[in-house]
Amino acid sequence: MREFVSVDEARALILDHVKPLPVEQVPLAQALGRRLAEPVVSHDNIPPFPNAAMDGYAVRQADIVQLPALLRVVATVGAGQLPPEVVPKGACVQIMTGAPLPHWADAVVPLEWTEVDSEGRVRILQRPAAGENIRPSGQDVQAGQLLFAPGQPITPPVVAMLATIGVAQVPVFRRPRLRVVVTGDELVDPSQALTPGHIRDSAGPGLTAQAQWAGAEVLPPLRVPDDRQKLEKAVVQALEADVLVFSGGVSVGLYDLVRQVLDAYGTAWLFWKIRQRPGKPMAFGLLEGKPVFGLPGNPVSSALCFDQYVVPALRRMQGQQSVLRPRFPAVLEAPTPKKAGLYFFTRGVARAANDGKLYVHDTGPQGSNLYHSMVRANCLIHLPEALEKAPAGLEVFIEWLPWAMEP
Ligand code: AMP
Ligand code: MG
Repeated sequence: MREFVSVDEARALILDHVKPLPVEQVPLAQALGRRLAEPVVSHDNIPPFPNAAMDGYAVRQADIVQLPALLRVVATVGAGQLPPEVVPKGACVQIMTGAPLPHWADAVVPLEWTEVDSEGRVRILQRPAAGENIRPSGQDVQAGQLLFAPGQPITPPVVAMLATIGVAQVPVFRRPRLRVVVTGDELVDPSQALTPGHIRDSAGPGLTAQAQWAGAEVLPPLRVPDDRQKLEKAVVQALEADVLVFSGGVSVGLYDLVRQVLDAYGTAWLFWKIRQRPGKPMAFGLLEGKPVFGLPGNPVSSALCFDQYVVPALRRMQGQQSVLRPRFPAVLEAPTPKKAGLYFFTRGVARAANDGKLYVHDTGPQGSNLYHSMVRANCLIHLPEALEKAPAGLEVFIEWLPWAMEP
């Protein structure tokens, strides 16, 4: 086991030991938020046939010799109908947006360029260019075209595209099942009144919510006191999941039993402690080949460690290649605490200013027990290990928190 690793080493050790879960087929209606497990190739041209881009008249350009041109209207074609195979010279059809273009037509004259005369003929006032207002077959997608690679997130537009090309069953990576086990004699259920010496368990609900946000299938959290036997039972129950997350009890206190109990079950630890603030005493290992995360109990530490280490693992298990969120340059508006030797994940509030730059300040006191520092934040400010201080005006990198876009 490695001790006191860097942030990058910790993440690399985790990602080296998780891989995408098996593939399953889900109906398109349930595919939102999942990731494609196979490449998707279109078997059809989209649009599948040439069609009208506007309501108007499908014409042969050659019939419009001089303006205004007078054409006989021999049929009306709506979307979903088929046009006449042949029409005589000097005739045209009225056509609606999306209706198949007759093969003899080479342009669509929009309604706005026409007048209908008293005998039901149409007077064309402007000459269309060849192909004008026609959507050719295959304009958007060519049959045989590779549209999506494995790992593609299934967003609402991707759902629409899959529907367009007729993918009704979607191959996706199975969602990782995750179990949170919170430990501590002091913890009571959020529904309970506080009694002396006790606090409400926030990590159970909070980490569960983060796991749901990251696409995991979350089993109900288990809350256990600092008791060896009860912890042992919880470990067995947690092994139903693909990912085990423990909160609390991983430090050096007298009652920090999580690592000892997991040791007894044969956990192969890969590291303990990361050179970071918050969340230094985090542990990671494998039990029966499954990733086991031992997160510190302080609420900000556990939330931060979950975001920075568990979420990337969940993403990789769901087939995502690049699991880290992008980082953006920003200017620090006010000094914020920093010391060399630890990587700081300072919780911040960032905004875009009129000069096109991002400006960021911290959320105030950054103690790992202070919920406010996390609740108010829309981003994390990355302050690398070697950085000695963080004065106003410093160029930093920020990372939007996953929920930053929520109003
Ligand atoms: P530990 O990592 O177990 O030493 O806990 C560190 C601090 O976090 C202590 O003040 C605990 O009371 C607190 N803590 C641990 N677990 C939770 C939890 N599930 N919800 C809220 N606070 C917690
Ligand atoms: Mg504890």
